[in-house]
Amino acid sequence: MTPITITLLLVAAALAGATTAWLIVRSKRMRKKTSNIVDLAAARRRKTREASLNPITSDATKRKVGSAKGADIRGFTPKNADTRLQSCSRCQKKSDSVGFYVDEYGNLVGVCKECRKSAKNRDLMPL
Ligand SMILES: [Zn+2]
Repeated sequence: MTPITITLLLVAAALAGATTAWLIVRSKRMRKKTSNIVDLAAARRRKTREASLNPITSDATKRKVGSAKGADIRGFTPKNADTRLQSCSRCQKKSDSVGFYVDEYGNLVGVCKECRKSAKNRDLMPL
């Protein structure tokens, strides 16, 4: 064997080793990408980087989403006082401050201020 062939063989071996190493690294990366498990730290870093890159657009989307949700919530809780009044479970009077208790049968009872004392006397569990 001449020194040239030995060198060539060494270079070939080194190339083969490098190729296998590269393949292993690539397969690991591919597995990472395809798996459902996401590296949280990396995802967070990516998110913050994206947010810092375009703060205007991310803010706009946040505001849009927030307003949409706010509209939904507003739709479900009417502001007018009439519908907000709840009737007492004991005296059936409408009251704006109804306290909720659980009775001995596990039923939910909403009692007004006047009936709250009797609820406490009955040793109901407040919620
Ligand atoms: Zn009452």
